[in-house]
Amino acid sequence: MDNYLAGNTNSPIPFPESYPRDIISGNGAYVADASNNQYVDLWMGYGALLHGHQHATEKKTITQQLSNGWFFSYPTKLETDLAAKIHSLIPCAERVRFSTSGSDAVAYAIRAARRFTGRKAVLAIDGGYHGVHENMVSNTATLSLEMPDLTLFNDNEMTVAKILSKRYACFILEPILANNGCVPPDPGFLEAVRKACTDTNTVLIFDEVVVGFRTSVNGAQSMFGVTPDLCTLSKAIAGGLPLSAVCGKKDIMEQFLPSGEVFFAGTFNGSPLSIANALGVIESLETTYPYQEMDQFREQFSQDLLKLARKHDVKLAIQGATSMMSLAFGCTSYRHGVKEANANPKTYACFAEYMAKEHRILLPPLYTETIFLAPAHIAIKDNLLDAFDKGFKWLSANTRS
Ligand code: PMP
Repeated sequence: MDNYLAGNTNSPIPFPESYPRDIISGNGAYVADASNNQYVDLWMGYGALLHGHQHATEKKTITQQLSNGWFFSYPTKLETDLAAKIHSLIPCAERVRFSTSGSDAVAYAIRAARRFTGRKAVLAIDGGYHGVHENMVSNTATLSLEMPDLTLFNDNEMTVAKILSKRYACFILEPILANNGCVPPDPGFLEAVRKACTDTNTVLIFDEVVVGFRTSVNGAQSMFGVTPDLCTLSKAIAGGLPLSAVCGKKDIMEQFLPSGEVFFAGTFNGSPLSIANALGVIESLETTYPYQEMDQFREQFSQDLLKLARKHDVKLAIQGATSMMSLAFGCTSYRHGVKEANANPKTYACFAEYMAKEHRILLPPLYTETIFLAPAHIAIKDNLLDAFDKGFKWLSANTRS
């Protein structure tokens, strides 16, 4: 069939050849293509599907909201309720605003930080990712770039020195570097940047688009006991429906129109369907979601995979936290991000191609991306390990990792 998508795709990521191009459904740990081939999904909606596909409670909430209407241009009770809920859960969230994508939320947060400090420059992490807007994209061919200055994750000395220069409106980072090898912060790193930001009146922004609600219902900031000035949330918050939020200190947040002068708008901001689902998702996270079990599962699964890799002489590092993990071939550890470790992207791509083709297991298609585990993966752990065993054996025989 002719494909009229630009570049034959709707994504910048080059998917391996053996990946299906015609997914039509998802259920639990699986997605299915138009010919009803079932694939294990290890990417889970870029992390948005904390519970896996078609979670029964979410499906019920969404159906119920559909019967009430799904879009209004007037203030809703849902948005007030969700703001109150986030305020009660996320330490920095004195005030909350809803937007639609992670990119929007980050753009608004940076805009607010610039107004608050009167400074323009942004400091970010080398290899990090914060969305598609011009302030943050480092590898685009557009001409209108205002690139952030970069520092290294877990490099206290370099990062603190840069912040102390007092040049920056904000320092934005993921508290766990989910977008580049899933690196947890070294003890003291977040504390050191918090202090430097406080001392220099630099706005500290935690981008919790991926890690918020996935690490804990109180956000990664509460897990590490470091409270940023602003934080962005998305993905897991609404179980796969489009929703994001900017939250943070009252004096920064009240700068947004209409209480202040900083522009913040968006037709679909605070979509009632997404917010209804977010309220249900958060309730389930507070009551039934097995955070501890997922953490133990990921830890054991990682150890089992490393053992299999050793058995076949495949050089592999695995890092992760809670239900996220990253595979890096060709190295054994890394602290600043998987790119810095010279992890082998080609080996990863070959492996992903093989796993999809031979075992119908879909890994994230790019080596910097994160595997997201859902409770439904626990029941198929043995099948996964068996397939990875064969995969490492194949890799060992066919490539140099
Ligand atoms: N921040 C982080 C940490 C992200 O991982 C992403 C998306 N992967 C974004 C921002 C941008 O979110 P979106 O794709 O919804 O615009």
